[in-house]
Amino acid sequence: MRDIQGIGIGQGVAAGPVVRMAEPLPEPEDRASALDASREEERARASLAAVAEELQRRGARAGGAAKDVLEAQAMMAGDPTLIADVVKRLAEGRTAERAVYEAFAAFRELLAGMGGYLGERAADLDDVSQRVVAHLLGVPAPGVPEPGHPFVLVARDLAPADTAMLDLEQVLALVTSDGGPTSHTAILAREQSIVAVVGAAEASTLVDGEQVLVDAERDLVVVSPSEAQLAEARERMAARKRAAEAPATPGALADGTPVPLLANLGSVAGAAEALRLGAEGVGLFRTEFLFLDAERAPSVAEQQEQYTRLLTEFAGKKVVVRVLDAGADKPLAFLNDAEEENPALGLRGIRALRRSEPVLRDQLAALAAAGAASDAELWVMAPMIATVEETRYFTALATELGVRTAGVMVEVPAAALLAEQVLGACDFASIGTNDLTQYTMAADRLLGSVAQLQSPWHPAVLRLISEVGAAGTSTGTPVGICGEAAADPLLAVVLVGLGATSLSMSPSALADVRASLARYGMDDARAIARAALAAEGAAEAKRAAAEAAEAALAARGSVGDSVRNDLQ
Ligand code: PEP
Ligand code: MG
Repeated sequence: MRDIQGIGIGQGVAAGPVVRMAEPLPEPEDRASALDASREEERARASLAAVAEELQRRGARAGGAAKDVLEAQAMMAGDPTLIADVVKRLAEGRTAERAVYEAFAAFRELLAGMGGYLGERAADLDDVSQRVVAHLLGVPAPGVPEPGHPFVLVARDLAPADTAMLDLEQVLALVTSDGGPTSHTAILAREQSIVAVVGAAEASTLVDGEQVLVDAERDLVVVSPSEAQLAEARERMAARKRAAEAPATPGALADGTPVPLLANLGSVAGAAEALRLGAEGVGLFRTEFLFLDAERAPSVAEQQEQYTRLLTEFAGKKVVVRVLDAGADKPLAFLNDAEEENPALGLRGIRALRRSEPVLRDQLAALAAAGAASDAELWVMAPMIATVEETRYFTALATELGVRTAGVMVEVPAAALLAEQVLGACDFASIGTNDLTQYTMAADRLLGSVAQLQSPWHPAVLRLISEVGAAGTSTGTPVGICGEAAADPLLAVVLVGLGATSLSMSPSALADVRASLARYGMDDARAIARAALAAEGAAEAKRAAAEAAEAALAARGSVGDSVRNDLQ
């Protein structure tokens, strides 16, 4: 038995056998083949046929929309034009691996050029190509494995698209050696309530078939857990399930101060579950997750349909939609074409949209039309705002295109430092604590090696949040929080004490945060926030907040056991 430390996402726990995800294959070398062309052709044909058959088989097993995608991929592997191109390249002396790689790349370019549905399928070809090359090399196919039984997926990191597509019947838990607590893999895992531990460097030592207990609440992966540990974990899960089934009342402090609790969503599919868990609206709808695979910008009509579906689900409630936050770890083919050394500091969010203003105009027009036809209260905000000028640019354009309520995300320290002027130029602000932490601490949110620096508990981050909270009060502007910080039950109290007027989080965190807020009044929240602000580091701030929280509860004659539990 041994433990592997990482950073838990959410509070869940799950156990099962490890299956590792294979790394992407390198580009096959462009060298002359040692075999003759007919032998290479035999190899290539055998691998193409084997992959086509495997994809067909998986499609038949999966059913639904996945069946169509997999069958289309199987047809790609068996396409006669593609095979003819492979044979032609073999005749020129290439290896089967290289010929397959080149033929698929040429096919991809052709499809991408066609646009429309076929253009969108171009990315699927890369997956088929990698599978055929892996078969030729006799190595496991890259991508999410399908062992045919439930498993704990262990990977260096996942692409957002892989995380979004995980089969939750099969993937019991996710462990990554890279990725920080606010990486988009972690966010998608939280959104889907996948038990996950990220930034667990030693996870690279785990081998296929090993039994593990993934304990997100305790930031641990236990290798070969004992029966007693498994039984204790099962008991904890049952207790959480009971707590989550308590009635979902609107978010409020103990003194009755309302703190609306909203949902972070990346697709309409999560809406019903968010409502079931008591979401009072949507505080962050990440529109870029709708278009991760799109090769071209979606049309106004396509977008309007998606937004209308979302607003219909949340009729009568507030829905905050963010315009495309493309770039860094969420590049969109139609917005991010530049090669950048530091994409997190490059053309991301509003910067990329401004460069491609017609895309932004289309999105705002689609949102305005969907909003006008719905009785949900639509607010629209821009990501990665750094200046007052960008704030004015966005709100003016949104107003011109018919959006009634336009705001900005505060996730760049510059915007927090000039909060009064930024908030004075828009209708509302929402603090993105994930990026605000990344940029304040200069710690890449994707890198496990700097995960310890990525804590929103750091007083430097809290101080910036308090600047925005104060500006919200002085200008009368609502200030929400939509980063992962809002999902931490004790930090949620601190954020309210710093001036946040609503909190938005993955729906799976709503019950824990609701229960935590209900324990404290506004005076308590302010005192707890002051204690955290005065600390020198993240761990000290968390400890100081817990002590202040315990003192607040003790002052009212209630023992602070629950706070100690939050800290464990
Ligand atoms: C954030 O940065 O906190 C945020 C909510 O946006 P995202 O995580 O999508 O970058
Ligand atoms: Mg962000």
